[in-house]
Amino acid sequence: EDDLSQAVEVPEDKLLGGLLPTGFDRESCLSRFESLSYRRELPQKPSPYLISRLRRYEALHKRCGPYTELYNKTLTHLKSGQYTSSSDCNYIVWISFSGLGNRILTLASAFLYALLTDRVLLVDRGVDMPDLFCEPFPEVSWLLPLDFPVTHQFNSFNQKSAESYGNMLKKNLLGNLSQSALPPYVYLHLIHNYDDHDKLFFCDQDQTLLQNIPWLIMKTDNYFVPSLFLIPSFEQELSDLFPAKATVFHFLGRYLFHPTNSIWGLISRYYQAYLARADEKLGIQIRVFDTGTGPFQHVLEQILTCTTKENLLPEINRKEPIVTPSGKHKTKAVLLTSLSSGYSEEIRNMYWEYPTVTGEVISVYQPSHEEYQQTEKQTHNRKAWAEMYLLSLMDKLITSSWSTFGYVAQGLAGLKPWILYKPENRTAPDPPCRQAMSMEPCFHAPPFYDCKKRAGVDTGLLVPHVRHCEDMSWGLKLV
Ligand code: GDP
Repeated sequence: EDDLSQAVEVPEDKLLGGLLPTGFDRESCLSRFESLSYRRELPQKPSPYLISRLRRYEALHKRCGPYTELYNKTLTHLKSGQYTSSSDCNYIVWISFSGLGNRILTLASAFLYALLTDRVLLVDRGVDMPDLFCEPFPEVSWLLPLDFPVTHQFNSFNQKSAESYGNMLKKNLLGNLSQSALPPYVYLHLIHNYDDHDKLFFCDQDQTLLQNIPWLIMKTDNYFVPSLFLIPSFEQELSDLFPAKATVFHFLGRYLFHPTNSIWGLISRYYQAYLARADEKLGIQIRVFDTGTGPFQHVLEQILTCTTKENLLPEINRKEPIVTPSGKHKTKAVLLTSLSSGYSEEIRNMYWEYPTVTGEVISVYQPSHEEYQQTEKQTHNRKAWAEMYLLSLMDKLITSSWSTFGYVAQGLAGLKPWILYKPENRTAPDPPCRQAMSMEPCFHAPPFYDCKKRAGVDTGLLVPHVRHCEDMSWGLKLV
């Protein structure tokens, strides 16, 4: 075995085709190295340009990150409210907000925005960010220092805050300012309830103005990447970074999100105990947004119609006596995640009580059933992260409409999931599910605005690679 106290050099192919930087030690974040043997090959390779931009970002981060000389300098300016010239470092601060799936998607979005605008990404710890994720950049932390002078305002920042960019536009406070009179920081309100002024963030003209503001502080619960693809000044860079457009979250997610050792323990132990030996592994992610506690019969029926119609699980034989031909049977493991334990119990029982028509042996596992969402609780979020990650290790996935939990799993996996359509009035829709156009997450609250024409427009019809989502007709996703 390697000497654990030393940085290990891993061959380039071991580091996801050069996606991950070298120089990390194995011990401090085992998942970065060990996950490689749990996963299939990447479906696509990252572009050489993406790799070189990541290395360039890492150098910038090292130069401007927490407690570097340049960081300390811009901080002095921030405290004094003084304007700094753009030759210094510029930052995007990500505020920890919303459920874990949402947070993972917004953090990837903020990082892409940082790449596009040459900003340094700093991460608000919230209650548990350092407990869940390893440091992704070598040498200098991505965590916002605890003594950052604006942190105490993060909770109260909202649409109406004086520091909010949209609000400043509404009150026409930025219009005629000379550069030196610009504020040292603004708050970007990109939460789903944002208004037309907040949405101007997605216009070129506003991006030009924002370039002159050294600190942007962002609160969002949405994967806003698709709309970045509609900003003309980002177009060329994005197409160089991602020649295959529908791989944005996949590559950025694999680059950024490495479970800490305690989470990796949850993942690897579960995988070894229940999943590793199966011939085929199917993930089913059930998220019910209906009120009331499940399990619901119509959801169970929807799952089973989907698995049957799409040939994801074998049918059972309710009539014949048990005939189990001898010899080796193909084993299929189902990893089901849900807040409620009912669905996996029903499916497990079904495959216990009746034989499959194919002779396949089906085993059903569910790591936890937390009953309801508990965003602020640490052990709860640990399990949620472990489960998203375990789902991403499966060969095929079934996910629930509207759920960022599922988006994270499919994106990290690099799989196009079968999406269960959202039930209406407690009835299973027909068809129950369909395979997604791409592995990308859906942007649930995109703007519908043509910045040039200053008029409403259907942003899902402008370019072939940004379309409306399968699971949310007004959402946008990359395909
Ligand atoms: P979304 O609401 O489905 O978009 O996903 P989020 O991850 O943003 O928020 C849902 C939260 O509820 C998760 O972060 C978990 O805390 C919890 N949750 C929902 N489904 C599950 C599940 O299947 N397993 C676990 N452990 N937690 C879940």
